Amino acid sequence: MPKKIYINPGHGSWGPNDRPCATIPYPMLPGTGRPDTCGFYESNTNLWKALELARRLQADGYTVRLSRYRNGPYPYVAGAQNAEDYNRPLSEICEEVESWGGDMFISIHSNAASDGALVNYPLFLYRGPDSENCVPGSKAMCQAVWPYLVECMKSGLEFQNYYNNSTNIRGDWDFYHSHSVNSNGYDGYLGVLKHGTPGFLSEGYFHTYQPARHRALNPDYCYQEGLRYYRGIVSYFGTPADRKGYIMGVVKDRSQTMDGYNYYNYKEGMHDTYLPVNGATVRLRNADGEFMGLYTVDKKYNGIYAFYDLLPGTYYLDLQADGYTTQQGTTNKIIVKANSTTYPVLYMTKGTSTPFETVDGTVTVTVAGKGIVKIGDDEMHEGTGKSKVTPGEQAVFTFIPEEGSYLGKVVMDGVDVTKYVKSNTLTVEKVSSNIKLQVTFEKTMYTMTLTVGRGGCAVVQDTILNMALHKYPVAHGDDLLIKPRPFGGYDIKDLKIDKVSVLGDIRDSVYTLPDVTRTHRVDVTFQVAAGINNVGTAPLRVLYEDGLISVSGAKPGNMISVTDMSGKVIFRSRATDTDCAVRVSSTGVYIVRVGKMSFKLMVK
Ligand SMILES: [Zn+2]
Repeated sequence: MPKKIYINPGHGSWGPNDRPCATIPYPMLPGTGRPDTCGFYESNTNLWKALELARRLQADGYTVRLSRYRNGPYPYVAGAQNAEDYNRPLSEICEEVESWGGDMFISIHSNAASDGALVNYPLFLYRGPDSENCVPGSKAMCQAVWPYLVECMKSGLEFQNYYNNSTNIRGDWDFYHSHSVNSNGYDGYLGVLKHGTPGFLSEGYFHTYQPARHRALNPDYCYQEGLRYYRGIVSYFGTPADRKGYIMGVVKDRSQTMDGYNYYNYKEGMHDTYLPVNGATVRLRNADGEFMGLYTVDKKYNGIYAFYDLLPGTYYLDLQADGYTTQQGTTNKIIVKANSTTYPVLYMTKGTSTPFETVDGTVTVTVAGKGIVKIGDDEMHEGTGKSKVTPGEQAVFTFIPEEGSYLGKVVMDGVDVTKYVKSNTLTVEKVSSNIKLQVTFEKTMYTMTLTVGRGGCAVVQDTILNMALHKYPVAHGDDLLIKPRPFGGYDIKDLKIDKVSVLGDIRDSVYTLPDVTRTHRVDVTFQVAAGINNVGTAPLRVLYEDGLISVSGAKPGNMISVTDMSGKVIFRSRATDTDCAVRVSSTGVYIVRVGKMSFKLMVK
């Protein structure tokens, strides 16, 4: 015999006792003090949850009965004869449950604290004291369903601030500190539980937590709660679990908060801080890149989207909304598991919206630097080009650097995938979207070893290298320009490349080593100019020549500073040896201090 489940969607009309609450799209109307019937009423949300639960159970062969199948009447007129037609007396529901003789009873509600309170958690109530259930099986049903119900809160999509690591299953006698016997002899507090069928009343969440209330304006958010009861009930009765998986998430603005909105007191640190992207379009694709569905987010400030009845596996979510940068490709990768829902919180960034592309395997390749990207028979060179791969199949990208270059970086759909490149090959096991590939080939760098001797400096490319041993990088194919610069009282002694003198090859004060393709050693030496003696006690000299102020003969450890006319210090360093040079770029007067000595220099 199929199991019989009686479902009571709590409340039933659009009156003052149906928990009307204000939301941004549906504030309280001045005429009634209640929102439009599309606004928040527990009657609406409880019914959506119950209908989805019923639909799922019936599809599995359960026999299902609901205490009501709709809300009404409309309009609600207080005191009218039909005002509570769908809000049936609890005693009448109990009589119906009793005579129907089901295997399980569930009453579906949401909880309330003071409006706007940052309080949210589920509560299951069965009839009896905390220690024991009056109807055997009731407590066990609660325990079976609880782990399924809390899936959404545990995922972080919904706020939960209590019972995160325990259940909140209570007997109504102890929870309310009161109980009484009805005419059928059933002893309890909650009127709807005064019958002999095992089961419980669920307060699935708090509708006074305002962001959750806005989510509940979206039927899919409520259907998902119904689906979670279904999973728990199926688990309790031991019938086969759902082999399909589901996605329910939210689309949020990356930066704009909900500060300043009414009816939206949010929990800091949660995604509830951020503006839901009303009207966003969410596209679902499977691992083969095939289109699986579109969801248009409503404009009720909840950001909710949902996809149903999915085979377990990998999926991709694309996002598009006016005023936001479109997301498509492999950015939002989602894993869907059987008998559960995945709850992705997705953020969009303000920017230019572009339409969704058709997934046909187009690969847009941008190559920077010297090298080739091979895709099948296509060879892509420096610049931007297009190629094609086959959706659902493997794709192989090969990177061939030219001589003197190497593969620097590979970015696929905005993500650096360089580390996945093996032997200059990147393999995408299954093409699930069009692909944007940015490939950078870098020039090979060679490290020059340069020594500069006492009595001058070397200007290498544009860098001043003072007396010391230097490591200087040069890119493959570049020319290396070396300009030895003797200080006052010194001459160039020699310039050696790889220990071979090239002094005779200096032209216009510069030696050019063309087309560097390997490392080199460079030695620059100076000697005391003819007629000057006593190098060891060389007098302190400060000179300006050809863009450089040079200091020679300073004591190691002396502080050397160069100040321009405005008083700005353009160089300040302790002399590591006796000589150094400083580049000055504009004309005028400079003050050079060496230790306690000051020099005034005119640069023309
Ligand atoms: Zn209720």
